Amino acid sequence: MKDTQESKPIIYLIVPCYNEEEIINLSAESLDSKLQNLINNKSINKQSKIIFVNDGSKDNTLELLKELKNQNIIIINLSRNYGHQNALLAGLEYAIDKCDCAISLDCDLQDDINAIDSMIERFNNGYEVVYGVRDDRSSDSFFKRFSAERFYDLMNFLGVKIVKNHADYRALSNRAIKSLLSFKEVNLFIRGIIPLLGYKSCAIFYKRNARVAGKSKYPFFKMLSFAFDGITSFSVQPLRILSILGAIISITSLFFGIWALVVYFMGGTISGWTSMVVPMYFLGGVQIFGLGILGEYIGKIYKESKARPRYFVDSIID
Ligand code: UDP
Ligand code: MG
Repeated sequence: MKDTQESKPIIYLIVPCYNEEEIINLSAESLDSKLQNLINNKSINKQSKIIFVNDGSKDNTLELLKELKNQNIIIINLSRNYGHQNALLAGLEYAIDKCDCAISLDCDLQDDINAIDSMIERFNNGYEVVYGVRDDRSSDSFFKRFSAERFYDLMNFLGVKIVKNHADYRALSNRAIKSLLSFKEVNLFIRGIIPLLGYKSCAIFYKRNARVAGKSKYPFFKMLSFAFDGITSFSVQPLRILSILGAIISITSLFFGIWALVVYFMGGTISGWTSMVVPMYFLGGVQIFGLGILGEYIGKIYKESKARPRYFVDSIID
């Protein structure tokens, strides 16, 4: 009988890693045995692979990866640190035309790798985008959970469609990867772009574990800047809110002026210091805030107009 495995999809697992020496071996081992299992029970093609994208790690991550000498593992070594999103993109760009479906996941094993089975099943059923959604974040700190929830609410309010509690754990068909790569923006917020692709999609649910080793590369301020990028890359709503705020303030101050005049002509004493200083600070604050938001968008235009390359590959170890 002919081996039916040839007809099975080629799956590439794409794993960005930055300073992950504490976990990289465990991660490679777990992912490799996952891949072997899937190959052995003939769910996926023998040519399936794991791609580790070393995002300019300053520790021993690259050396440890090189020592693995596993024929299922490919290492893409970027020339420096470009950030998670660009590292992911580098992996996808390499995988395109080599695989039928690419699954992106973090190196820290926080995303339950057993969800890969259901992702592949959905892919086989014709879904081109399969979102991995955490339905349990109890392993995250209260603060991380709270800030993430508010972020999703805010994005929703601003009219940006993102899938709640979905990060970058997802399966993409070859066609979906090609479409994603046709977005040329430098300010990359992949999870905001995926829903814009519009192919047949679905979500699978999994429990998010705590990091087994190593530290999060997204401390508070980096997370905040990532959220800010997400908002300003996908929504001009903050500019709109700003103009509305400006209009409300000018109308209010008009009435305030009329009131002050009336009080003056009726011979009342002009209110003193407070009524002058408070609006002054308030308006000053609003103006600076407004300028800041405008500046954010101008900064984006500046970066996009230069259209700099998003990453350089230093070497590929196959
Ligand atoms: N990562 C990366 N480049 C960076 C920062 C992070 O490739 O500049 C990788 C990191 O190694 C991990 C993934 O992106 O595999 C997610 O990072 P992390 O787990 O620190 O984020 P968190 O889960 O805390 O949001
Ligand atoms: Mg993590």
